[in-house]
Amino acid sequence: MYCPFCNEADTKVIDSRLIGEGQQVRRRRECLRCNERFSSFESAELGLPRVIKRDNTRSTFDQGKLRAGMLKALEKRPISSEQVEAIILRLVKKLRSSGEREISSRQLGEWVMEELCDLDPVAYVRFASVYRSFQDIQAFNQTIEQLKKDLSANKKQSNDVEIEKQ
Ligand SMILES: [Zn+2]
Repeated sequence: MYCPFCNEADTKVIDSRLIGEGQQVRRRRECLRCNERFSSFESAELGLPRVIKRDNTRSTFDQGKLRAGMLKALEKRPISSEQVEAIILRLVKKLRSSGEREISSRQLGEWVMEELCDLDPVAYVRFASVYRSFQDIQAFNQTIEQLKKDLSANKKQSNDVEIEKQ
């Protein structure tokens, strides 16, 4: 890292130790040009990123809100609570490992849609219609067309199974 005194790019680590309960590393550094010494601290960034909303305001990530949005889309669908919780866990893990300090609500919504798309087509369309607000009628039509294709592909598969049985 750069020397904070003279901006030299090359600084040497002369000592490195764990501090706290090993949650942080303190490195003693020395500048190779001006010989000033300074410390740097390193710790894992594990906090969840904040969510940037459409109007550019920021808020802390709200797991309850995420769950509520998904459950609304999944109303009266044959999906268990365990399946919903598994998705939430995956999304939280994804958020945490992104290492980002902030993430747009749009990105988060896309991730939810990817999950719902695999899980349940009806929930996917419900969520997408709220989420994307389908301002773009073409995007809505595309989504429906794709669903029809997926559904008829599934139907064909199950017909094939029926025929095999006979
Ligand atoms: Zn220096």
